[in-house]
Amino acid sequence: MPDFVGAVDQGTTSTRFMIFDHDGAEVAKFQLEHEQILPRAGWVEHDPIEIWTRTAAVIETTLQRAGLHTTDLAALGVTNQRETTVVWNPRTGRPYYNAIVWQDTRTDRIAAALEQDERGQIIRDRTGLRPDAYFSGGKLQWILENVDGVREAVDRGEAVFGTADTWTVWNLTGGVDGGAHVTDVTNASRTMLMDLDTLDWDDELLSFFGIPRAMLPEIRPSADPTGYGGTLRSGPAGGEVPITAVLGDQQAATVGQVCFSPGEAKNTYGTGNFLLLNTGTDRVRSRSGLLTTVAYQFGDQPAVFALEGSIAVTGSAVQWLRDQLHLITSAAESETLARRVRDSGGVYFVPAFSGLFAPYWRADARGAIVGLSRYNNEAHLARATLEAICYQSRDVVEAMQEDSGVVLDVLKVDGGVTANDLCMQLQSDILGVPVSRPVVAETTALGAAYAAGLAVGHWNDTDELRSHWAEDRRWEPTWSEEERARGYAGWKKAVTKAVDWTT
Ligand code: ADP
Repeated sequence: MPDFVGAVDQGTTSTRFMIFDHDGAEVAKFQLEHEQILPRAGWVEHDPIEIWTRTAAVIETTLQRAGLHTTDLAALGVTNQRETTVVWNPRTGRPYYNAIVWQDTRTDRIAAALEQDERGQIIRDRTGLRPDAYFSGGKLQWILENVDGVREAVDRGEAVFGTADTWTVWNLTGGVDGGAHVTDVTNASRTMLMDLDTLDWDDELLSFFGIPRAMLPEIRPSADPTGYGGTLRSGPAGGEVPITAVLGDQQAATVGQVCFSPGEAKNTYGTGNFLLLNTGTDRVRSRSGLLTTVAYQFGDQPAVFALEGSIAVTGSAVQWLRDQLHLITSAAESETLARRVRDSGGVYFVPAFSGLFAPYWRADARGAIVGLSRYNNEAHLARATLEAICYQSRDVVEAMQEDSGVVLDVLKVDGGVTANDLCMQLQSDILGVPVSRPVVAETTALGAAYAAGLAVGHWNDTDELRSHWAEDRRWEPTWSEEERARGYAGWKKAVTKAVDWTT
């Protein structure tokens, strides 16, 4: 039996390949960034060919550097940026248009129109989501309506749809030479097209967006012993490995953080933040602006669901300080700069660049920096940026507690931003709850590897995976209740300014 499991993590800013050993420890990794294409305000695209080329390159390089071969891998898992939409020609392998990324708001009118009649409520009831530019259905409708020839190509079987997982798996399993056209329940649950009860595409939902069923991938469990297909000897892995898991990145992180019991939650801090609470086999409906989504489905076991608080802009606000304002030269420098001051000096920054997601869902909101006085400097803005990451997380924690009655005694965190110790201390202060980071911070890739390994019996069960989890660091709250309440009241007021500023 091979000793390792591999995972492709096709993320928003980069694609990485990671290899884990039987204890869930990282053995090797390599990653490459891809271009963020920003053609106009509110539009965000990726080049699918660039993504696939980089995916192939990271697989090849990781294996080479680790001196490993496909024979060392028991299985492969794939995890991905969710909702990002690709339409391509399966005969040529060429996309008809760039991938429309989850943060792209060009389809906000499509979403708003669905709220004009009963369709909005049908979408809420059936999909657990809410009409929003965030999800794939509107993005696919936009491509069908705006890219010449795509609709006709669908009729000829020459245009198919996929999210980033589907595109990746199709290419890995042979592409034009018979690549598998599949997705999993977690990714399908982010389209506004899947019924949460049947876990299948829903014809009425498809009709809302004018989407032909024939162009959609087959929906499969997140971990599947029969496999989605295998890598090719002629492909980047240089051999055959069964692909036995596919999960959206946030769901994969939930698995990587071993949140297998109802009431367990994790918060991932990447480009955006995503807090998922396992609700078991119950589909808990939110009254507080959260989403109901599939957490995972392992083989023929019943699907497990989650309540999700999605925040569009967190780590990407730090990138904005770096790339647009040139206040810092690296993301890590946000910490040194923010440490130059004791507090944010009364400044609040609401980074509503893509509107506001949970719990506000205001696609028309725009960013706001408020509370400035002549005294403030760039360090205050850096600190306000880190605080904004934490305040947005508090907003979704509050919503989650309201919906589920679950009161967190500790927040499990992961993702790129958790390298920022100050930000994690602020998170604990702002929430009034300890914050805990695991040894393996790459929980997204780990979760995909866990699901893939479970499918082939590399690991026996979720209890075995639980035993791998170990804490790296914990932050305890240091603020007084009074400080915490004052800070949060200021944040809530700042949010009203961003929401007022409609475009
Ligand atoms: P994704 O999977 O969404 O691509 P990652 O988990 O790789 O995201 O995290 C990348 C994000 O983390 C970037 O937006 C970056 O700005 C942010 N980031 C990375 N390191 C730090 C740091 N030390 N402090 C603050 N933000 C950071």
